[in-house]
Parts: sequence; structure tokens; C-alpha cells
Amino acid sequence: MEKIRMSTPLVEMDGDEMTRILWQMIKEELLLPYIDLKTEYYDLGLQYRNETSDQVTIDAAEATKKYGVAVKCATITPNAARMEEYDLKDMYKSPNGTIRAILDGTVFRAPIIVKGIEPCVRNWKKPITLARHAYGDIYKNTEILTDGPGKAYLVFEGEDGSVKKELIHDFKDKGMVLGMHNMDASVKSFARSCFNYALDTSQSVWFGAKDTISKTYDGRFKAIFEEIFENEFKEKFEKAGLTYFYSLIDDIVARVMKAEGGFIWACKNYDGDVMSDMVSSAFGSLAMMTSVLVSPDGIYEYEAAHGTVQRHYYKHLAGEETSTNSVATIFAWTGALRKRGELDGIQELSVFADKLEKATLSVIESGKMTKDLALITTIQDPVVLNSRDFILAIKENLEALLA
Ligand code: NAP
Ligand code: MG
Repeated sequence: MEKIRMSTPLVEMDGDEMTRILWQMIKEELLLPYIDLKTEYYDLGLQYRNETSDQVTIDAAEATKKYGVAVKCATITPNAARMEEYDLKDMYKSPNGTIRAILDGTVFRAPIIVKGIEPCVRNWKKPITLARHAYGDIYKNTEILTDGPGKAYLVFEGEDGSVKKELIHDFKDKGMVLGMHNMDASVKSFARSCFNYALDTSQSVWFGAKDTISKTYDGRFKAIFEEIFENEFKEKFEKAGLTYFYSLIDDIVARVMKAEGGFIWACKNYDGDVMSDMVSSAFGSLAMMTSVLVSPDGIYEYEAAHGTVQRHYYKHLAGEETSTNSVATIFAWTGALRKRGELDGIQELSVFADKLEKATLSVIESGKMTKDLALITTIQDPVVLNSRDFILAIKENLEALLA
């Protein structure tokens, strides 16, 4: 078979620990034999980030802006223990945070649905894609404890000298106060990312906030979504047969529990934090989640939702066998290859991505899987494969699909 040719490179961001090992195996066994793989390679492994004082992360994000599509391996976010382990010059920020700040995107996470790994919620038949606003609210708050009686105010001093002042509370005794903010520009780009991704994946959008209680703050979120939808997306949605639906967050939660899935759930920052953990664990496992960062101007960065699986890596280093699930990392590659195929008009690339996904899922459906899935599957007597044999089983299926 002739290898599939690519015209534009993918930005490839390598990572750390066990996922770096999987990355190599996936490329060797599942990609390079079939694709004339064109990538611009950036090593985001912690050692090289340290050597370049994290410049490599910035370069990778800039390259993503240039080419439009990236695929990223999981990476270590340094903490005190990692400073020592890797003898770091600095406690570098999370690469995902750095990349997100440069691309200004929204992260969309969706479960990978496969027979044999059943959601706890019986009526969920299709994936629920969670879109989390990644700026502000309580994640950038200011808090104080009041030490006794007194008045707390919310004050805004405009650069033009104007002042807005509201009494928060007249305290009779000790208590606490919190101030938080968001920005029109950030909410607008969040809304645009959600609506663009909806058109891209042919799914409707649900958004919930609490504007009955927070009439000004949450009311502003609701108004911005409405305005962007009416002015920029309404016609495109109608043509595509999709809808945008706003309701109170508690009503949305109730509807989500009764729904079939197959839509995008846009969440404010805190709601997204809480609800994404609920949705992902109810669907099965973090190793069965796709994750893509989409910028408002349509740049895509695909990754796995889980971390570097450190515990398995130390077993691997000690020469022990591992059974690490590579599905989410494989789907990061297929997502990126499919998008590259779409953008460059290379249909074989998109078809290959579909086949690789199918080959992956059919291994699991045939009862062969990694240990994490064997623990939760409804399939009787599953066969547990090690990290490499799982990838080789996928390769066997892939070869059959490509033949
Ligand atoms: P983790 O890598 O997600 O792993 C936590 C545990 O979840 C593992 O020990 C394993 O459980 C299970 N698990 C996760 N992914 C799995 C997979 N693919 N196959 C099988 N089991 C899997 O989280 P962590 O150990 O808390 O973090 C490790 C490093 O990852 C940290 O340095 C953190 O900074 C980084 N991290 C990176 C990202 C990212 O780049 N997007 C995200 C999160 C964390 P058992 O050990 O019980 O088998
Ligand atoms: Mg969380």
C-alpha cells in the first residue's frame, strides 16, 4: 500500500512519562507505516522545557497558530517534587495553561463511547460534550474575612473619574466577602468557540447560568451568548438543523440527566469544573475522553484528557509490565489527522482517522482491553493486554480495515 501523503505539517508536541512511551509506540505501529507523516516536532518533555526555559512551549503554541492544527501528548505540570526530580531552573507553568493563553481557546471534552463500557446513566446513548469557559469567576477572585462589625462595598472607579458603589452587606459580626469578575471579550470568544464547534461537529448547544439570582453578572453571560448567536450564528444553525438553547443551570442539569446526549453543554468556569468530572466519571474513565482546544478563530489542538500516568511509568522504568490505556492518545492523533485532512482536502487522511478509531474500538468490543477498562467493563471475562499488545491488537484490526 502506498503511504498517504500530507501537504501541511501537523504541530506535534511530545510529552512526558508513560504517555511519551505510548506516543512513540502509536507513531511507530499505527501511523508511520501508513502515512507519510509530516509534523513540525516540539519536545515538550519536561527536560527540554527546562533546557529552553520553557521557550519550546511558546514556540509550539506559535507554530499552532501558523499551521492551525496541533496534537499534544500529556505533560508534567511541575510542583515542588518535580523541581527536585528534574533539577528544574524554575517552576514552569502548566503547558496547557501557556498554550491556552496564547491561543485564547475553549476546551471541549467528550467521552469515547464503546460497547462494553456503559455509562452509569442508562439513557445516555451519545456523547455529551462539555465546553468549559476557562477564564475568571471564582478562579480569579479576591476574598477577605471581616474581623467584626462593619460595611462591605463593591466599588468601581472608572478611568474617567466616575464611581459606582454598592453596599454588599452591613455586617453585625464576623463574616466573609468575595469579589470576582469576568470580561465581555472573554465571554464573547467563549460563545464563538462553542457555536463554531457546534457547526463543526453538527451538535446543538445548551447553556445554563443563574440569571434569575445573578441578574447582572450571569445576566451578562446570557445576553452575550444571545447577541453573538442572533448576529453571527442563527442562520448557519438553521441551515444545519441545529439549535441554541438557554435555561437556568439547575434546569439544564435536570434535562441533561434525562437526555440521550449528542449535544454540547456550555458551562461557566466553576460549573464546567464540577460538571466535567461528573460527566466523565459517569461515562466511564478519563482514559476514554477526547479533549480539544478550539480558538475563536478556528485553531485546533488535540490531546488526551488524562495526565502522564506517572505510577505506570515508574513500573515501566523498573522493567515491569504495564497495561496503560492509549485510546485517548490515539484519538488525539485521529482528531488532528482528520482535521488536517478536512482543511487540506485530503480525504484519505480523514478516512484513515475513521478507520483507526474503528479499529481501536473494535478491539475493546471484542473483549480485549487494558486493565483500567477490564475493571469496569460489562463484557464477561475480558482479556487484559499490556500497553504494547493492546496497540498491536489495534494494528491487526487496522490492517484488516485498510486491506
Ligand atoms: P494521571 O496521569 O491522569 O493518572 C492518575 C491515575 O489515573 C493513574 O495513576 C491511573 O490509575 C489512572 N489513569 C490515568 N490515565 C490512564 C490511562 N491512560 N490508562 C490507565 N490508567 C490511567 O494523573 P496524575 O498521576 O495525577 O498526574 C501525573 C502527571 O500528569 C502530573 O505531573 C500532572 O501534572 C500531569 N497532568 C497532565 C495533564 C495534561 O497534560 N493534560 C493533565 C493532568 C495531569 P492507576 O494508577 O490506579 O492505574
Ligand atoms: Mg476539576
